[in-house]
Amino acid sequence: MEKDASDPDPSRQRNGFVGVLYGEFTDTLDDRVRYSVSLTESALTIRRISSSPGRTEAVFKLVDCVGCRAYRGPGGSDVGAYFTAYFYPFKRRWMSAGLTRQRVEQCFRVALVQDPLVNLQEAERWAHAIRDASALQAPRRDGVVYSEVRRPGRIMILVNPQSGRGQALQLFTGHVQGMLTEASVPYTLVITERQNHARELVRKADLSQWDALVIMSGDGLLFEVINGLMEREDWQEAIQTPLGILPGGSGNALAASVHHYTQSPPAWNEELLLSCGFILCKGLVGSLDLVSVHLASTQRLFSFLSLAWGFVADVDTESEKYRHVGAIRFLMGTLVRLASLRVYQGRLAYLPIKEAQNPPRGSVMDNHPPSTPQHPSLCSSLPCQLIPNTSSKQSSRHNSSNSNRNAISTKGPETQSDSKTRAPVDSLLPGLDQPVPESWTLVKEEDFVLVLAIYQSHLAEDLWTVPGATADDGVIHLFYVTAGISRPALLRLFLAMEKGAHLACGCPHLVYEKVKALRLEPISPHGMITVDGEMVDYGPVQAQIHPGLARLICG
Ligand code: ADP
Ligand code: MG
Repeated sequence: MEKDASDPDPSRQRNGFVGVLYGEFTDTLDDRVRYSVSLTESALTIRRISSSPGRTEAVFKLVDCVGCRAYRGPGGSDVGAYFTAYFYPFKRRWMSAGLTRQRVEQCFRVALVQDPLVNLQEAERWAHAIRDASALQAPRRDGVVYSEVRRPGRIMILVNPQSGRGQALQLFTGHVQGMLTEASVPYTLVITERQNHARELVRKADLSQWDALVIMSGDGLLFEVINGLMEREDWQEAIQTPLGILPGGSGNALAASVHHYTQSPPAWNEELLLSCGFILCKGLVGSLDLVSVHLASTQRLFSFLSLAWGFVADVDTESEKYRHVGAIRFLMGTLVRLASLRVYQGRLAYLPIKEAQNPPRGSVMDNHPPSTPQHPSLCSSLPCQLIPNTSSKQSSRHNSSNSNRNAISTKGPETQSDSKTRAPVDSLLPGLDQPVPESWTLVKEEDFVLVLAIYQSHLAEDLWTVPGATADDGVIHLFYVTAGISRPALLRLFLAMEKGAHLACGCPHLVYEKVKALRLEPISPHGMITVDGEMVDYGPVQAQIHPGLARLICG
């Protein structure tokens, strides 16, 4: 006979256990096997009831539970009802080291009485309680404020069937679809037919119909979705739509980053997909920084991942032809590019975080009109005039301006809207044809192997580029590698990046700065620039961060 939750076993209470629900159920296959099951706010504990002394017990943490379903038995003759809870706990990988999420279901038969309806009601009561308790338990990072995707939410899942090895759809059906059903997440699948299909679709979509937009592809499809949202008249509201990512491409940097933010052990391929599916089912939403990128063509783009020039952009673009091998295409591309290592000439300038945090007097705070930038031009065709600075470690590299700075903006905060342009104002950026403000730092070197601005932890599934980054740290993490680095040293950096150890390599050619804005002016007539892995017009480019402009399902 099942006990009721309102009457928890007093002996358990004495043992420090305060049950939310307690019951006794039978095994789904064998009626003689009975379990005592208890549900607290954090765990489902199952004990096998047996006369033999060694009582077995299993504890499932609700933080690992995506859902629970109640249902009638098959056929008309079974008076019992059932409920099944679905867990994805971390378990040891088969035949290899490390932990990864693996699916476990726990199913019970409820046969309180001879009335099937009463049994079903009891099974539903349990399923409901397990779902509710699980929804409150999700992997979170300390100190981060999350909200939740509305439940039951309606999610649009956009799949690029061409991404990665061309298997995104199969991967979705094989690994994610079932989990969404277990979690009772209603969704509509949209299969993209061509490039920019998703961009056009979200630009016109009635967003009141959707509680989240999720993409199952590489980073390129999310780039389309974000830009489609930002092109809308109601961009300010549209960009608040929670965005989710399921890795189905060959470049799954955001998926790897989102997984990493949950402080889970590293995962690749299908394991990464399962983890991102799990995060989606949990539906916790945090903030996502976006970076506004200006190109010489006066085009403005919004980026969530990276801006790259030189080695990284070349590898990204050239490795497209190895797409069929999946994520390993970047390693192959890296090896090929190393063999023909190039140096690129250009000028780089940036606004360091510290400068941006101390707005100069007479500008931002005092609401003065925009001042004329005073820096020797980074946009003129003449080489920059550099003022030697001997006071810091950076002196060999940088021309950091003195404290008498000018700023371009007249108003804070950084993200304002302009009703005419219907887009956020880039208050830190002058026009691309204007010199950068004095508060910016000019990089002395003009010979680079690569420049990489990145705003997530991972550049690819196995490239942990910014160990400390989070989705909403409000920072552009700027890396550059200057000319003179040897091939083996560059290879060492990329190999060390798998463990996030490249900054500890002590490589004198690698520089890392935290910035709010940057400008890059290539001098080399040919080269490639990528934004979020997508090739853009080659030429001068500048960018600034908009902290927390978008929202990301990131658990
Ligand atoms: P991958 O990581 O494999 O490169 P992406 O998601 O980055 O996958 O997609 C690669 C490119 O394909 C992007 O430029 C994207 O805009 C484009 N794309 C999206 N849908 C389609 C489609 N149905 N057919 C062809 N290209 C598409
Ligand atoms: Mg891509």
